[in-house]
Amino acid sequence: MPTLPIASVSEHLARIRSRIERACAASGRRPQDVTLVAVSKTRPATDIEAALLAGQTRFGENRVQEAAAKFPALRAAHPELRLHLIGALQTNKAREAVRLADVIESLDRERLADAIADAAQREGRLPELLVQINVGGEAQKAGVAREAADAFIALCRRRFGDRLRGVMCIPPEADDPAPYFAWTAACAAQHGLAVISMGMSGDFEAAIRHGATELRIGTAIFGERVRAG
Ligand SMILES: *Cc1c(COP(=O)(O)O)cnc(C)c1O
Repeated sequence: MPTLPIASVSEHLARIRSRIERACAASGRRPQDVTLVAVSKTRPATDIEAALLAGQTRFGENRVQEAAAKFPALRAAHPELRLHLIGALQTNKAREAVRLADVIESLDRERLADAIADAAQREGRLPELLVQINVGGEAQKAGVAREAADAFIALCRRRFGDRLRGVMCIPPEADDPAPYFAWTAACAAQHGLAVISMGMSGDFEAAIRHGATELRIGTAIFGERVRAG
């Protein structure tokens, strides 16, 4: 897997940060109210180190196994690091996810809530949680259906209290994301949830306009992902 020169990761980060600042200014928002999560899936630890050296502390991974291989060593060297798990989560990975993550963004069904609650009891720690909403109703995507979101958020609130922080969505790729972002922000507001995780490399400025408090950005920081095979 090719490793990017450190300079390029820090330049990309600087460029993203200034775009975030401009988008915030344009919608009368404060940049400190928008958290950047650098999505480091498929990238080697050296790229993550480069981002850490450039002041980036929050990282997102979508596979528990990959996160478990990369992050314990990075965390030991960089105690400020925070790990977000952002990918569809199987119940049999819940325990390892609870052990590793600071934030789990893909809580989307009751059986997973059960598994996380059980794991939290065994591990003696509970990450912050976001409910993922399948905002475009796409068969291939994880997330609770829009129609079921209110009841599921209420269930998670009862079970996890204020460890339930917010909502996360990934709009359909081919559509204008704006209505999906607006729906997700309204859902968070209705439930009094502070965190709205939406916006990726291609659409984060629109997400900021619609109230995103957390952006998950991968390729615009680390370059195109390289998959084996
Ligand atoms: C990969 C991924 C991202 C980042 O996507 P980019 O287009 O590379 O910025 C964001 N969120 C989730 C859930 C992802 O899996």
